[in-house]
Order: sequence, then structure tokens, then C-alpha cells
Amino acid sequence: MKKLLLFIVLVAFPLLAMAQASGGQIRRPGKKQSISNSRRSVTPSNSVQKLSCPDGNHPHMIDLGLPSGTKWACCNLGASTPEQSGNYYRWGETKPFKEGDTDATYPYKDVDIGNTIAGTKYDAATANWGAFWRMPTENQMEELMHNCTYKWITLNGVKGGKVTGRKCGTIFLPASGCRDISNGSLNNVGSMGHYWSASAKDGYGGLCLYFFSRTWYWGSNSLTRGYPIRAVAQ
Ligand SMILES: [Zn+2]
Repeated sequence: MKKLLLFIVLVAFPLLAMAQASGGQIRRPGKKQSISNSRRSVTPSNSVQKLSCPDGNHPHMIDLGLPSGTKWACCNLGASTPEQSGNYYRWGETKPFKEGDTDATYPYKDVDIGNTIAGTKYDAATANWGAFWRMPTENQMEELMHNCTYKWITLNGVKGGKVTGRKCGTIFLPASGCRDISNGSLNNVGSMGHYWSASAKDGYGGLCLYFFSRTWYWGSNSLTRGYPIRAVAQ
């Protein structure tokens, strides 16, 4: 029985997770990044039915039992509850992308700011929440996907993905849609989630997490799209 369980965890689950991935440029699992444990850890919860916030003073740092020890924020950048969308950002911008902004206002269209902006002056999480927080790297995003389960739920009237660690912890990612490149208008609210990572790839754009009612997957898109950001703690 133990061998069977081990097989399910080590072999069957990763295969299932990869098989579920669909859509644009899908990326294979990357190497796990070693992140040291941070100082304000939230006590893990064994409940998979509720979010892991200990009280109403968001944002919290949530322990999902990830191999690297990375802790994820309980809410989006600019949000004050887990189900709020918060702000939308174009990749590398630290000020929100708002209704009426056009593609022409994106400051890095012809400026190379590098392919990894975590913790730099282009990191919106660090700029707005301080050095303790960062945009998740590609490795951290992949670690989340490969070590947690995903379920489409409605939380306080908001649709989105419930992400539950295998060992502990639950966070909610609202399906906040995205802001359109041309005029900043909102699309796909309630039907799609798009979240930036701190990583980009030449020829692909920014790497991001996508999800909808059926599944979540990993892809890329134009840096000038406005997506929410879910930070990780350092
Ligand atoms: Zn919280």
C-alpha cells in the first residue's frame, strides 16, 4: 500500500499535472529554487476547506508546505482581502495599469530591463509592499503548480482558483481577468485568471500563470498586458 501511495505521489501526480496543462506556450517543470525560510511564518492549517489566513489583517504569508519553503501572499498586490483583484500591472511597471492607459504609455517597450526582475526596481511587489515581498520567479510559479492542487471555487461571490498545498495551507486566486493593451479596459473578469511571474523570455514575453474553470497552466504573453500580481515572501 505504501509503495502504491509513493507511486501516486512521485509518478502519477506529476504526469497528471502535466497532462492537464493546455493552451499557449507550455513550459516544462524547472529546477526547484532554494529559498530560505522567512521570519513571519503562519502556522500551517490542516484544513483544505478554508483559506489559511489567521485573521482579517491581510496580507498574510501562507505556508503551503512547498519544498523550497517559499511562502505565498494571501491576497493580490493592491487588494485588502483574498478575493479582491487588487491592481493590474504591466510587466516591470510598479504603478498600476489603469483604465484609459494605452500601449504607448508603457515605459519599457524599447527598453531592456532584463528577464528576471524579482527584487529589482522593476518588481511591483517589492516597490509597493517592501523588500520582504517579491514577484514570484518562474521556478516559484512552477513549484506552486507542481506541489498544490487546483480547484475552481466561488469565495464570497468571487470566482477563482483555490490552491491547496499537499501538506498544508490554502490560498485563493481570484479570476480577475486582465487589462487590455489598447485602452486598459477589463476583460475576462470572473472567467480567467492571469498572474505575472518575475520572469520573461526573449521572443515569448512575460511568463505567467493562467487558470479558468477547468484547469490551471503556465504560459506567456505580451509585457504590455495588465495582470494582477500575487507576491511571495523572502
Ligand atoms: Zn490573509
